[in-house]
Amino acid sequence: MSSERVTLFVDGRWTGSSAAETVEVIEAATEQPLGAASVGTAQDVDSAVTAARRALEGPWGKATPEERAAIVARFADALKAQGRETSALVSRENGMPISLSRAVNGFAPAAIIGYYAGLVGDHGREETRPGFAGETLVRREPVGVVGAIVPWNYPQALAAMKLGPALAAGCTVVLKTSPEAALDAVAFADAAVAAELPPGVLNIVPGGRETGQALVDHRGVDKIAFTGSTAAGRAIAARCGELLRPVTLELGGKSAAIVLPDVDLDVFTRGLPEVSFVNNGQTCHACTRILAPASRYDEIVEAVTETARALRVGDPLDKQTAIGPLVSRAQRDRVLGYVEAGKGSGARLTTGGGVPAGQDTGWFVEPTVFADVDNSSVIAQEEIFGPVLSVIRYDGIDDAIRLANDSEYGLGGTVWTTDEEQGREIARQVESGTVGVNTYGIDTNAPFGGVKASGLGREMGPEGLAPYFSLKSIYTTVKSA
Ligand code: NAD
Repeated sequence: MSSERVTLFVDGRWTGSSAAETVEVIEAATEQPLGAASVGTAQDVDSAVTAARRALEGPWGKATPEERAAIVARFADALKAQGRETSALVSRENGMPISLSRAVNGFAPAAIIGYYAGLVGDHGREETRPGFAGETLVRREPVGVVGAIVPWNYPQALAAMKLGPALAAGCTVVLKTSPEAALDAVAFADAAVAAELPPGVLNIVPGGRETGQALVDHRGVDKIAFTGSTAAGRAIAARCGELLRPVTLELGGKSAAIVLPDVDLDVFTRGLPEVSFVNNGQTCHACTRILAPASRYDEIVEAVTETARALRVGDPLDKQTAIGPLVSRAQRDRVLGYVEAGKGSGARLTTGGGVPAGQDTGWFVEPTVFADVDNSSVIAQEEIFGPVLSVIRYDGIDDAIRLANDSEYGLGGTVWTTDEEQGREIARQVESGTVGVNTYGIDTNAPFGGVKASGLGREMGPEGLAPYFSLKSIYTTVKSA
């Protein structure tokens, strides 16, 4: 079944692109067309930004936080009502196992957006503080028109992490979706219509890099919120630097799981699929480097290998599937290229290493583990974005921390130990925006983001709302009562 839906949504209406160009979205597991998406031109971006500015200057920008919170909460409810269909569509687009997709595409977007509706309702727009001459009013105003650019791997959750705080703060948004997952974003537009979001508050323009560049370049955009690769993030940051435009960047990662000598291997191997193979490895915060102590090295290599081997590879729409196909042929070929680099690097392949037998259709890669990996090798330093792990030996805790930090990136990470306090102490020393101790799960109520080449700024939690406000101080001579 191929979707006939129009994918460009501007000023509250479904519309055709100014160019006839479309891109076919292909189902990852079957390689069959799922539907055609418009490729937004610079003219489409301009129409969307113009609509967003009009909406900002209209009633939306002037509504009270409480009024906006009520509409944003309705928007979240409308998304939730469509969660089942949306999660299945994303699984078909990018190969995400449905059990995960139900949570991150079906449930999480409404939860995140609902969280921000609740948060902003609690915040007054103005605060009075004692000042030099008299009272000072500190005002929080919406930063303006937001250009939100998302990748294909978690298209719903990553968009929600921008839409929730932006809309709650009173901003308007132009969302640029990626060509590989351009179809599921219709859920946001349907929810916007159902929740009676005023026209122009949310606009959706699918397209590739050029569409994204047109959005970043547009003079009518006040802030960019980007999730994607470090290479694209650097280019966007450079352009935003020239324009002096605020930008939030959520980029790549190469996180480490530090396994301590006192680890409970049952706990570790139960957590490993979710921490290291989540979404077929197509996850920015995945712990793809496993740091194993010399004292238990062989045992840990075996446990990681057996866990990988036991993962069920197959149809992403089957609830039992742990590993689905990668998003595209290009992505699979890229991942297989890294697997070949690993084989030629002196590392020892312990399982996987190719396309699974009998999976001729769909872009599958076997869960793959390399042991005896040198942390300076390509497979330990570069983001592979597939189900490929490197096990690296360490000698002593200091060496483990040094290896964990010997990376261009700093986004996720985990520590596995039966001594929770020691785990926290090591987590404090890992150079990363987020670290889990015997677990890892992004928390709506806590900031998420990276250090070093993994990004700038934070999403989620109250900290994720702040970038969508512009602050104004009004000094007065009025004395406080
Ligand atoms: P990508 O950088 O190629 O593309 C991401 C989005 O940016 C797409 O919509 C793309 O069309 C657009 N884009 C690309 N170049 C652009 C430019 N110069 N100007 C404007 N827009 C541009 O990344 P991808 O391959 O789609 O996604 C995978 C990457 O995303 C991985 O590196 C992954 O780690 C990262 N990611 C990071 C997070 C995070 O929260 N830190 C989350 C998910 C994915």
